[in-house]
Amino acid sequence: MTYNIAVLPGDGIGPEVTNQAVQILKEIGKIFNHKFNFTEGLIGGIACDKKQIPLPLETIELCKKSDAVLLGAVGGPKWDKLDGENRPETGLLKIRKELNLYANIRPAFMYTALKKACPLKNEIIKDGFNICIVRELTGGIYFGNRGELYCKHGKAAYDTESYNEKEITRIAKTAFETARKRNKIVTSVDKMNVLATSRLWRKIVESISNDYPDVTLNHMLVDNAAMQLICNPHQFDVILTSNMFGDILSDEASVLTGSIGMLPSASLSDESFGLYEPSHGSAPDIAGKNIANPLATILSVAMMLKYSFNLSKEAECIEASVKTVLDEGYRTKDVYSEGTKLVNTEEMGSLVIKNLRTNNL
Ligand code: NAD
Repeated sequence: MTYNIAVLPGDGIGPEVTNQAVQILKEIGKIFNHKFNFTEGLIGGIACDKKQIPLPLETIELCKKSDAVLLGAVGGPKWDKLDGENRPETGLLKIRKELNLYANIRPAFMYTALKKACPLKNEIIKDGFNICIVRELTGGIYFGNRGELYCKHGKAAYDTESYNEKEITRIAKTAFETARKRNKIVTSVDKMNVLATSRLWRKIVESISNDYPDVTLNHMLVDNAAMQLICNPHQFDVILTSNMFGDILSDEASVLTGSIGMLPSASLSDESFGLYEPSHGSAPDIAGKNIANPLATILSVAMMLKYSFNLSKEAECIEASVKTVLDEGYRTKDVYSEGTKLVNTEEMGSLVIKNLRTNNL
């Protein structure tokens, strides 16, 4: 089979980590006899520099005619002074909307080998945890009306959160379907004691749950959820939440896995089409140094193989190789601890590639 993949490296460490993920896919292609075609497009700060907009039309067209999209990260201090519409991050929000990528799946799984890199105490970590965050991605406060105005106290600014029945229903279904393939528990996280959107959210999630009697539903306020992730991460299976809460909670969950450089993500539409990217940003503080952890991006292409191309065996081969490399003690700087072997971005990618063939034997 031939698969056409749009590659949008973006800014900062984006090109470094996507390059490693592309090398992995090329090797998977050789091992399993698939053809992956890669076409690069511009997004984010580099698009602002070259095309004066963060998401050029040709990038949208490239993504629409591809079978899946691999994205690095966008943004950085160079573009921080640009106003709203022209910021690199606007490109990211626009591509999610353009491609109708409403379901963001972020698995936060702790590899036993990375126990030492987890900031939690041993008695809390126990045997690790396995959480899947299902975040609504094309609605909520990131897409609501925003603006600035003058009031009697001077300048003021506002952002608005809104959710409708359709948006909540489809993401709730994604969460329940995901839970069905896992431990069958959905924790829906909201702020219903304050927000009207959360009260609608809770009502609709309750009604969808009637179609999934085999899945246990519980509700949690977001402030408590932030605390529970630290105190007792084991209680979670699938966390269903809104765009902004999911953004924040997934960063928190990522650091429990050892580093944000470990957390992959898939952003899916109704069809099998998806955009795959690490959960981290462009990490300007380490960009260009060949020290970024490429595993989140490598694990994101494993998700691409599974969700968009239905190639589970190939995806598992990548996941197994990542586990082997970590078990053998190789670490990028972000997850390094005494007694382990420090490697750079390229070396980590090469180690995973080396193990792909072994894991497919
Ligand atoms: P960040 O995720 O880029 O970095 C946070 C911290 O994690 C930094 O110390 C960084 O060095 C470290 N880090 C991130 N990824 C890493 C990796 N793969 N390996 C090792 N360490 C890693 O978040 P930030 O600093 O808040 O944001 C930087 C820029 O990225 C901003 O412009 C922000 O808007 C943008 N951003 C983009 C995305 C995206 O493209 N999806 C997401 C978040 C932030």
